[in-house]
Amino acid sequence: MAAMISQRRAAASVASSSAPKRGSRVVTRVAQPLAQPGSQSAAADASMLARAGLPPTTTPYDNYVFASIREAEVNRAMTRRYFKDMDEFAESDVVIVGAGSAGLACAYELGKVAPHLKVALLEQSVAPGGGAWLGGQLFSAMVVRKPAHLMLDELEVPYEDEGHYVVVRHAALLTSTLMSHVLKNPNVKLFNATAVEDLIVKPDPQLGGARRVAGVVTNWSLVAQAHGTQSCMDPNVIEAGVVVSACGHDGPFGATSVKRLARLGMVPGGEVPGMGALDMEAAEGAIVGGTREVVPGMVLAGMELAEVDGSPRMGPTFGAMIVSGRRAAHVALAVLEKRRKVAAGAAAAAAGKEMAASA
Ligand SMILES: Cc1cc2nc3c(=O)[nH]c(=O)nc-3n(C[C@H](O)[C@H](O)[C@H](O)COP(=O)(O)OP(=O)(O)OC[C@H]3O[C@@H](n4cnc5c(N)ncnc54)[C@H](O)[C@@H]3O)c2cc1C
Repeated sequence: MAAMISQRRAAASVASSSAPKRGSRVVTRVAQPLAQPGSQSAAADASMLARAGLPPTTTPYDNYVFASIREAEVNRAMTRRYFKDMDEFAESDVVIVGAGSAGLACAYELGKVAPHLKVALLEQSVAPGGGAWLGGQLFSAMVVRKPAHLMLDELEVPYEDEGHYVVVRHAALLTSTLMSHVLKNPNVKLFNATAVEDLIVKPDPQLGGARRVAGVVTNWSLVAQAHGTQSCMDPNVIEAGVVVSACGHDGPFGATSVKRLARLGMVPGGEVPGMGALDMEAAEGAIVGGTREVVPGMVLAGMELAEVDGSPRMGPTFGAMIVSGRRAAHVALAVLEKRRKVAAGAAAAAAGKEMAASA
């Protein structure tokens, strides 16, 4: 026992002598670089291993050689594709504004049920994912209320089943998995670091001249941020059969489309009340149930909808964002189909008139 006590005292005295003293200079240990092949230390390592009768240390990446490349090739490989995409997606079937959980879920669903459609997914941030990289207050776990967890089954994202809700170990697992599914679809183009600054709004003959959202006005986010200091930085545009806006709740960047519609006097009821006080029980159903074409040509999904409906905020529970995004995809498809049928009807009527006139 006495020996054990003296051992403990010795350990404690080593620990206290190695701890930095108040006012003393703290010496940080710098990690030694790994032995470079051919260096003195590599030779020393090799001879030490040889003396011990062991083979030299190797990794699968020793003697790794890259294929040769020229700088201009790298440049052209990126820009050629980007500008081709800009050209192709200048007229998109669906534009989704915001690649948070609702926008990503919408793009996922469109890719699943209508993979032939051209979908431009616009995200002002460099990193898509919105608020879905974390749970509440920067915690890692993500809560999803049943039955929204069926999406997790579909994506093969593991979770802990807590009965009436499930928990994904890290929110980033769902977000990155969802994103990888979306980005594999060649007909979905994510333009990140691209902000929607305004909407294209036009009188629509199909609506008897009433206004319809017909696309979005975009700019690279860095350019958008410099509007206060630089002049003459005109934006770009994407025309769309339908716009799904999923910009999230109001804040420095959020609720862009809703705020713009309000300034244009297009929000039904005029005012944008902003999201209501927190009520988790009621909030999620209100978002999913309210997902709709709010004005002709624009479907709202996710928390942006709460801004226009005044429905309660919900805090960090994400099932409603996923289901609202998925529902928005089907609403968008119905909008496109409605327009196609009306246009076909109008064309048939015009052809009938022409035939009657020529008879
Ligand atoms: C820190 C934090 C705070 C939260 N606060 C709340 C809360 O107050 N109430 C609540 O119910 N839930 C809150 N949540 C939960 C959760 O974030 C949201 O409910 C959920 O993220 C909303 O999903 P969404 O897809 O609607 O929007 P978001 O996840 O916010 O995604 C919107 C995306 O649109 C992009 N975007 C916005 N404007 C533009 C634009 N003009 N052009 C292009 N892209 C644009 C944004 O960059 C973002 O990526 C919070 C979560 C976190 C982590």
